[in-house]
Amino acid sequence: MVLGKTFKGGFHVHAHKELSNKGSIKTIVAPSIVKIPLAQHIGAPATALVKAGDEVKVGQLIGERNGNISANVHSSVSGIVQKVEETATIRGRHVVTVFIENDGKDTLGYEVLNRDWKNVTKEELVHIIGDAGITGMGGASFPTHVKVNPPKGRVIDSVILNAAECEPYLTADDMLIRVHAKEIVEGLQIIMKTVDAKDGYITIEDNKPEAIGILKPICEANNINLTVVKTKYPQGDEKRIIDVTLGRIVPTGKLPAHVGVVVNNVSTAFAIYEAVKYGKPIYERVATFTGFGFKEPTNAWFRVGTTIQDGIDALGGLTEDAAKVIIGGPMMGFAVYSTEFPLEKAQNGVLVMTESQSHMQETTPCIKCNKCVDVCPVRLVPFQLEASVKYHKTDMMLDYHLMDCIECGSCSYVCPAKRPLVESIRIGKNQMRIIPK
Ligand code: SF4
Ligand code: SF4
Repeated sequence: MVLGKTFKGGFHVHAHKELSNKGSIKTIVAPSIVKIPLAQHIGAPATALVKAGDEVKVGQLIGERNGNISANVHSSVSGIVQKVEETATIRGRHVVTVFIENDGKDTLGYEVLNRDWKNVTKEELVHIIGDAGITGMGGASFPTHVKVNPPKGRVIDSVILNAAECEPYLTADDMLIRVHAKEIVEGLQIIMKTVDAKDGYITIEDNKPEAIGILKPICEANNINLTVVKTKYPQGDEKRIIDVTLGRIVPTGKLPAHVGVVVNNVSTAFAIYEAVKYGKPIYERVATFTGFGFKEPTNAWFRVGTTIQDGIDALGGLTEDAAKVIIGGPMMGFAVYSTEFPLEKAQNGVLVMTESQSHMQETTPCIKCNKCVDVCPVRLVPFQLEASVKYHKTDMMLDYHLMDCIECGSCSYVCPAKRPLVESIRIGKNQMRIIPK
């Protein structure tokens, strides 16, 4: 076990993980209606395989992936398809969505297996992962069957399981490790087999002592390197975690595979284990339902297609001063205007903030204190980037490497003038993407 590593930049933030990192993982009972979007991933939407009136079962394929950069979608309940139509989803996009009336019987639509991954070829493993519709569950939602099947000639020597969970408030990965560490380590070993990697790593922040204590003997018994890093935001960023774990720098514009590494999230590894071992597609996951706006913050399993409101009601409701719902954590998450949106495979957290936490603070002129520069993990100059966007200076945006920003929000968080730095950078990035080359 390696202890105490960290990266340059970043900062310590009061994480409020104590709100939800106790007790057991609850289960949100599947609601009477689920709304399952056919585009929950990066890439082409899946194609609907069902229509109104069709009977479906739990785990049945209802949306078939459309090309390689796409993902299968499965039913999370058994029942009758009410309708298939375009609906606004959690990120505001309109997506073809399958509405299913739950019959409450939970009739399974897949055969439960008891497979040993050691007896399965790597080609079959990739196939199983793709069929199960697994996508990155740390928030990115990139189709996992692509990530674990690098192009021919690309040598991957290491797989890192990202257990940092550096976003404040979120504890879903921490709690999942405490219950399923052995299965998660097997999930990592499956990924190592698919990419032919000789070394496996789990990198975790030192604010999760229980999970570390459980992982340590399992990692030692399986020759997995456990790296315990200092708690600092944004440790969980893919490039930061590669740097701190292996000392390798992923160049600008390149992916981790460029330096021989594949990084996956804890929940993704667990879903891979379940798909390979039991033949279970991804139709449920654990997320953190937390914040001072929840009466009883906790972690809970939810079926894909459960609405935010269903989750809130099932978990004890909100406080009277609850004011703002954020999907994900407070740093990289996004606010939603309705609680009727369905939760998707990628959702690792629902954060509800109170009225007093949600006030917009007044913005004042930049005082050139350099705090934003000090915390930037990418070594950018956020105040210059904000100015370049404000004055539409494309050359300056390029000179200051605007597109390298990982949108971690650290600069905005520490700015005493409350400048909307990351918001300006996002606008600049969108402008750069639409400028003709
Ligand atoms: S932290 Fe805010 S006030 Fe300080 S230099 Fe950056 S933008 Fe300016
Ligand atoms: S949001 Fe971008 S510019 Fe700001 S600290 Fe993070 S990486 Fe740096």
